[in-house]
Amino acid sequence: MNDRRQVVLCLVFSSLLISGAHVPQCWGQVTPPEEFLGFKPGADFELITYEQAIGYLEVLAGQTERIQIFDMGPTAYGRRMKYAVVSSEENMANLDKYKEINRKLSLARGVPPADAESLSEEGRAVVWIDGGLHEGEVSGAQQLSQLAYDLVSGEDRRTRLIRENVLSVLVYANPDGMTIVADWYESNVGTEYEVSPVPSIHTKLRGTNRDSFMSNLLETRNLNRATSQEWFPEILYNAHQTAPFPARIWIPPEAEQTNFNVHPILIREKNLIGSAMGQALEEADQPGAISRFGFDSWWTGYHLQYNDGHNTPSILTETAMYPYATPHFYRLSDFPEAYQDLTVGVCYPSPWKGGWWRLGDAVAYNITVSKAILELAAKYRYNFLHNKWKMATDIIERFENEAPYGWIISADQRDPNATALLLNNFILSGLEVHTASSVFEHEGISYPQGSYIVQTSQPFGLYVKSLLEIQRSSDLREYSHLWQGSVGLVEYEGPPLREYDGAGWTLPVQMGVDSRVMSRPLDESVSITLIEEALSPPGRITGSGNQIVFSHSDIFSYRAVNRIQEAGAKMSQVLDDVSVGQTRFSKGAFVVDGGSISANALEKIAAETRIPMIRSSIRVKSTPLPKPRIAVYNPWVRNSNARWTNWLFEEYNFPYHVLRDGEVKAGNLRLRFDVIVLPDQDADSILNGYRRGNIHPDYVGGITQQGLENLKEFVEEGGTLICNQSSTDLAIDSFYLPVRNILKDNKPEEFFCPGSIVKMDFDTDHPLAFGMQKRGIAFLRGSRRGIPRVFEIFSDEEEAAAADEKTAKEKEEEAEEKELTAEEKEEIADEKVKRENKRGITPIVVSRFPDEALLISGKLIGGEIIRGKPAVLDIPIGNGRVVLFGFNVVNRGHTHSTFRLLFNAIYNR
Ligand SMILES: [Zn+2]
Repeated sequence: MNDRRQVVLCLVFSSLLISGAHVPQCWGQVTPPEEFLGFKPGADFELITYEQAIGYLEVLAGQTERIQIFDMGPTAYGRRMKYAVVSSEENMANLDKYKEINRKLSLARGVPPADAESLSEEGRAVVWIDGGLHEGEVSGAQQLSQLAYDLVSGEDRRTRLIRENVLSVLVYANPDGMTIVADWYESNVGTEYEVSPVPSIHTKLRGTNRDSFMSNLLETRNLNRATSQEWFPEILYNAHQTAPFPARIWIPPEAEQTNFNVHPILIREKNLIGSAMGQALEEADQPGAISRFGFDSWWTGYHLQYNDGHNTPSILTETAMYPYATPHFYRLSDFPEAYQDLTVGVCYPSPWKGGWWRLGDAVAYNITVSKAILELAAKYRYNFLHNKWKMATDIIERFENEAPYGWIISADQRDPNATALLLNNFILSGLEVHTASSVFEHEGISYPQGSYIVQTSQPFGLYVKSLLEIQRSSDLREYSHLWQGSVGLVEYEGPPLREYDGAGWTLPVQMGVDSRVMSRPLDESVSITLIEEALSPPGRITGSGNQIVFSHSDIFSYRAVNRIQEAGAKMSQVLDDVSVGQTRFSKGAFVVDGGSISANALEKIAAETRIPMIRSSIRVKSTPLPKPRIAVYNPWVRNSNARWTNWLFEEYNFPYHVLRDGEVKAGNLRLRFDVIVLPDQDADSILNGYRRGNIHPDYVGGITQQGLENLKEFVEEGGTLICNQSSTDLAIDSFYLPVRNILKDNKPEEFFCPGSIVKMDFDTDHPLAFGMQKRGIAFLRGSRRGIPRVFEIFSDEEEAAAADEKTAKEKEEEAEEKELTAEEKEEIADEKVKRENKRGITPIVVSRFPDEALLISGKLIGGEIIRGKPAVLDIPIGNGRVVLFGFNVVNRGHTHSTFRLLFNAIYNR
């Protein structure tokens, strides 16, 4: 601990004494952040930890009535997510009243126009400002101490206007990440590794902007609950730090294409706020703000678009990045050529000219735009409040008379727990979900009692539509009038233009939940009830007999398996389709040996996992289910798929080991593990990891060639190596598999799939696809964020013929040209070895793309190329096997319908 931390601790203790004793403070005496922290927020070489930041806010809360601290829940590392609300003393004394007004206006139900007007007059605008969601993007969180101080202490005209009209909600969006990054930086300041990125040491750190529509993470649930059940902000500002270079900050308006499932007022408000921010930056002589370029709002899963979907205009900024708090100098010659002549544009009116850039600059820019947003909200308080009511009212009314009227999610589902997860996520997100109190018929289909109805005629009905409908993302090449700002449009002939993230996401489809769109309103005779929780059928054990059988079609069945195995019980899987009593179980359903676990323990597991189980009095033919020792390779380089794979195993109670480069290099892997999972990661990055340079030497390099040899030995000796998407390249090359990735040299003009849901066929007789449906889905992402692998298998003969042809050609060339060098000879010999190695390896196709139009939701160009091709291969090698998933089966914890491929692969034997 250095001197700075000691000073801070002293101050924390003294402040606790002060607030604990309720010593009244003289008016105006509030501690400025530099006095508490020992430096000004944004100072060179200094980062504030989350604990320091909250410690400071608590000091302020002890000194003035203008700020209060609240708690929105726990983080992955057990911290509490605390946040501050700042306003005038009068407003703070009436917080509950103002929250209630805001809730009423946002939900709009039962609020007639006259009341909406008076409530909008009376209410206060809630402006939510958060920072640090991406922990490495520090300035958004670092600004908040200073902003809080300015807002509580300022007596200028503008600050008073803000305090009187606005409730400022200041949020640290990723407390764990904030402290981890600050500590890491501090440990490196002054060394040659000062700007070294944080290696992936902290496997629970998943701070993500791509989880909001799924609410998988604790932090996301906290944020979603606070925004859409408690505060209903009039404006939300989510600060990031990756501006398009050399711009210093990115501000709205956004790029095309925009999500059309929002009220047009919302888009106008976002543009207005963006303009106010730009103007404030120019007034403060802070040049280099850019708009439009790059960031669009098509994909609905971000924190921002989640809140857009809740009729809260949500503002992104991306300030310029240089890692941490180390200043950096830029010359004009460092700029991309197009920016070097400092050309002025409508969306870039004050080009940045280069020079020093410091964290302090980024913080100052953030503070300028934060205050611009707050001032605008104060000036147009009535409009922002009234528009929340208008947007909600318009949406409710629109879908009373317009399709889609909603979606029906039948109570009769293959995967009841995934269904409940989906619906509870909706409820957490502040959406209205109803159940039918009896059997009913709609558009010729009969639905059982307890079926769910999610109507679009509700305050956030456009968000409902966005989550549940099939997406058709436009090919922007055909709509250049939307994005070309020039006089006379130029026909665009380049490759397809990318969405910033995915093109399609339809949640029920990704999760394997059946839903039906309502093209007609629900009959008035159908009685429905608003619910607070969706419950899957209870997990009871029925029947008699000593074998207990349960279905594998429910994703929670794997959770049950892990709990049962953890309790030491013996398990197996049925060999053929079988009936137990009235229930039919398909091949691969799970069987518990009743003699190996107490009835009470099993009943408890069934109840907690909500998996119904049936005792069988007739012996069910089954094959033993192993309890594999699992390792998930976690590189030191940042890899979000590794993080999500860890998350998935934790969520479903699979015990696993985090496997590091050093262990792979050390070998003897088979002694320790049965299964190794390689996440979606380039072969080169797995082999070589971080290159030398600024990187701390402990984290340089990958598994190396030695590690690769050890992985081969692991498989030969009976291990299972599972490769997800891009890591399949490593196995194909190094195991000499008779497999080729047909998209290896793909051009986007030929095949383009920027995150879409497509059809997929599975061989459900193969253990890898147990519990799947024959026709299922895959989530494919073919943009810069990872191209799917689509396979082609060579037979021995084809391979030999192709190789012979090649050798003959080489011989010809050899005769014509010159004597081969030793190296060339070695290469040819090597090829021969590879060819020999491929003989006898026969990949088994577990799934392939159907030979028909493939797109379900999103965008797909050139789908014909992959029709009929294999996508999942099971490849026995030696005593073990390699499993290749050509598409990402984990996909950020969204694709419940493909998780079981990974789970089954673990048991594959
Ligand atoms: Zn970011």
